[in-house]
Amino acid sequence: LLLLSHAAQLLTLAGPDRARRGKELTDLGVIRDGAVLVNGERIVAAGPTDVVTRGLSTSVDEIDCRGMLITPGLVDSHTHLVFAGARLDDFERRLAGATYEEIARSGGGIRSSVERLCNATDESLTRHAERWMAEARRWGTTTIEVKSGYGLRLDHELRMLAAAETAGKTTGLKVIRTFLGAHTIPSEYDGARQRYVDELIDNMLPEVAKRRASEFCDVFCDRTAFTIEEAEKILRAAASCGLKLKIHADQLSRTGAAALGIGVGATSVDHLDHADASDFAALAASSTVATLLPGANFFMGSTYPAAREMIAAGVAVALATDFNPGTCPMIGLPLVMSLACTQMRMTPAEVWAAVTLNGAAALALAHECGSLTNGKRADLAVFNADDFRAVPYFAGANLCRFVIVGGKLLQTLDN
Ligand SMILES: [Zn+2]
Repeated sequence: LLLLSHAAQLLTLAGPDRARRGKELTDLGVIRDGAVLVNGERIVAAGPTDVVTRGLSTSVDEIDCRGMLITPGLVDSHTHLVFAGARLDDFERRLAGATYEEIARSGGGIRSSVERLCNATDESLTRHAERWMAEARRWGTTTIEVKSGYGLRLDHELRMLAAAETAGKTTGLKVIRTFLGAHTIPSEYDGARQRYVDELIDNMLPEVAKRRASEFCDVFCDRTAFTIEEAEKILRAAASCGLKLKIHADQLSRTGAAALGIGVGATSVDHLDHADASDFAALAASSTVATLLPGANFFMGSTYPAAREMIAAGVAVALATDFNPGTCPMIGLPLVMSLACTQMRMTPAEVWAAVTLNGAAALALAHECGSLTNGKRADLAVFNADDFRAVPYFAGANLCRFVIVGGKLLQTLDN
């Protein structure tokens, strides 16, 4: 048995194991002088320390969390964490005024990441994934979604998914893999995009599913990527292979991808920078989670999604990093929480629900993690703060002391 006791605040997020909406988002189940009791990989009790420890024998490993904040481990439900090399030249060019198209023409953009990925060894991909998962963990992340999408060929896509899986084992993080073969049209299919859609549907998806190489399938549906019609075909094919669905939706323009996501039963629709009130109404009436990625808006200087309007409409809003080498090289969820508060006017309580239980729901894991209640996996994060509002408030500072994943203490920091 492992006991974490006497936390200044414990956020349980106790309640139904599903995404929170509207006013529910602010109900974090805050307990003062809180404790969590863990048996093996499961939580057996969470509540006030005097209640949790009543009648407890002395054979307990105890971690005194006085002055600390205990929360559910953070869930980062949208990353492109496996890549081969930062795009520093693109970064500098964009700051000097180059457009996305100009950068792509001069050899940058997604296609440069594809070229580098295809030339990288399995070992270097795995090492990169381990490095950045360890970094995510340092900021409090315990579950992380990782997409493929820089291979665009079955063998390279599988190498990316394998690197994510291996890195999850070495870092101890819970990894959820997403096949994003439909990230962009590979250069060898220029002028023959239909052939690539066929390749995805007829060969890549069935093989990924057969090998159980991913849990989700995602499609980048936008004016520079796949059309609504193509995205629908790909997502329906993925569903028939048994994969759960996600979609990059309405990021650069409103294409109707959010509505498509709801129509095909996607677990989440992500970005939504250009989604409108009719999309919010449809999302509110569905079980699809809206995952907002304000780190990408910050890094690109683009318009933030209308989080307040979505929450008022009753949309289940989650937050994730979108960690990737092009549009958001930001790995820590606490900074994303700060951006969500200051740039989208979400409240500190709302952003906590959005990176815990709603992040879990965005991965169809709300029954397993995202809150601290009996029977759930013991995934938790401990911060050097006595009030949950301090984490988004100290923007850019890392207050996380350690995380526990599946009952295992993974690291301790001196801060
Ligand atoms: Zn993305």
